[in-house]
Amino acid sequence: MGLKKLFKPFKLISVARRSGVVTVLYPYQKPLITTEFRGKISIDASKCMGCGACVNVCPPNALTLNRRDNTIILNYFMGRCIFCGRCAEVCPVGAITVTHEFELASMSTRDLNESLVHQVEKCSGCGGGLGATRRKLQYVILHSPTAENYVHLCPDCRKKRFINALAMKMGARTENVEG
Ligand code: SF4
Ligand code: SF4
Repeated sequence: MGLKKLFKPFKLISVARRSGVVTVLYPYQKPLITTEFRGKISIDASKCMGCGACVNVCPPNALTLNRRDNTIILNYFMGRCIFCGRCAEVCPVGAITVTHEFELASMSTRDLNESLVHQVEKCSGCGGGLGATRRKLQYVILHSPTAENYVHLCPDCRKKRFINALAMKMGARTENVEG
């Protein structure tokens, strides 16, 4: 072992003595939590519309969106979360908040799961499941008012209504030409 290596610990001790104590006796003393600190996320059920944008950007798949019968379930498994905050950045309605909560240890993984259940809207034409929630449809209408006539319909009913509207328009035009 070279002399440099031999004296390295002493060098570290002298650096530590200069910088003072930087650790705390956790959990007896609370650690420093800065405003930028990112802990678990919190999803506001009154805002979420089940669009899945957060799911698409979550690097470790801590967020998942599953369709079951007439529900869409947004699940957050904090055991996988890396607290990056990407989901909060992309949520179009600001439903996700990054909290300062970090004490998440538990004896059961069940405690690390949070779910948000959305009801799937029914097609106003045939009554079948639409695959979207009411809040999501409202969001679409708000951002594209021209979609209002079609957004509550399933793809089949949408196609039928569009063809009917087109046929009526063509008929009116033919009448005008003949007249
Ligand atoms: S991005 Fe926002 S609105 Fe969309 S599913 Fe995630 S939390 Fe809900
Ligand atoms: S903070 Fe990052 S890892 Fe955690 S749920 Fe959001 S996107 Fe996924």
